[in-house]
Amino acid sequence: MTSALRERFWERYTLEELTSAEWEALCDGCGQCCLLKLHDEETQELAVLNVACRLLDTHTCQCSDYENRFAYVPDCTQLTPALVREFTWLPATCGYRRVAEGRKLAGWHPLLSNDAECVHRKGVSVRGYAVSQDDVPEQQLESHIIAVLPM
Ligand code: SF4
Ligand code: SF4
Repeated sequence: MTSALRERFWERYTLEELTSAEWEALCDGCGQCCLLKLHDEETQELAVLNVACRLLDTHTCQCSDYENRFAYVPDCTQLTPALVREFTWLPATCGYRRVAEGRKLAGWHPLLSNDAECVHRKGVSVRGYAVSQDDVPEQQLESHIIAVLPM
């Protein structure tokens, strides 16, 4: 852990109180929020696909151009404390969601394990099942639904 991060900051501060370095470090690198979703206005349900945003490296589960991502993916969302609470679709494993809900981070989180591969070995990340949207024709998206969530 670098000195820019306060000791066990995730247990001692709210999301609003984090520095930008702490905010970034709280992401566990699972890539789940970069999976495409289909919103059904009628049923108010959100279908999650195993199809990832074209900028997601489906092996590392990292954004391949995080700094410039909004230039390529204008609808990529910058998470904020308010959005973490609003986005009920964020996975229960998500580091931001855990802190927002007053839960502990899991032992596999990079902040605790000091091992960025742990999230993959534990099967929490999208590695191994996510495919890039560049490889899926738009008319086939619906056949890639892996979960349907209430909004
Ligand atoms: S779901 Fe949460 S922890 Fe996982 S990549 Fe997205 S922001 Fe990071
Ligand atoms: S632009 Fe990057 S951070 Fe945003 S959804 Fe795509 S892969 Fe994820």
